[in-house]
Amino acid sequence: MSRSALTIGVLAVQGDVREHVRVLTSLGAQAHGIRRPTELTDLDGLVIPGGESTTMDKLVRAFDLFDPLRALIAGGLPVYGSCAGMIMLADRIAEGRPDQQTLGGLDITVRRNAFGRQVDSFEEDIDFVGLDGGPVRAVFIRAPWVEDAGDGVDVLARAAGRIVAVRQGALLATSFHPEVTGDARVHELFVEMCKDVQ
Ligand code: GLN
Repeated sequence: MSRSALTIGVLAVQGDVREHVRVLTSLGAQAHGIRRPTELTDLDGLVIPGGESTTMDKLVRAFDLFDPLRALIAGGLPVYGSCAGMIMLADRIAEGRPDQQTLGGLDITVRRNAFGRQVDSFEEDIDFVGLDGGPVRAVFIRAPWVEDAGDGVDVLARAAGRIVAVRQGALLATSFHPEVTGDARVHELFVEMCKDVQ
């Protein structure tokens, strides 16, 4: 039975949490930060924001969120990862720290910092499969790209010839930061994914 508002958590151990909460709220979802395992109940979806994946990985484990998050992903919870969030969802990392782990779930190899360091951040209008209304303005900040993707992964967008947005079942990931542009279409797509499994 569908409820009136979706409840979407934003992993809030590190990174740009508030921007995602703001966009999701503007789309009518009840969005809030998640820091504890007990806050993971009754979610219709989860966003893993951008930030620093090595730090996020350490904090997720320190806060006992690693196993519960893996279980939710395995159970089919819709999850959207942006930038560091994409890295967290990747089954494999290139240029990760030696002890860096990911939650996994997406059959992709992600290359960290692939587009360069902070100074090399850039913006580009890119075509995004399934989004009406023209290209999406994509902001890349020390962004990863997807080096390879398994057969079950849909490629949704590319920039500079590289894969920068993917979907596999209930998992969505972008190398870029749609939460900072005022264009809510990527979040809208994710909200629709959450409704589909509600
Ligand atoms: N380079 C960062 C990392 O490896 C990601 C950058 C971002 O999320 N903006 O986690």
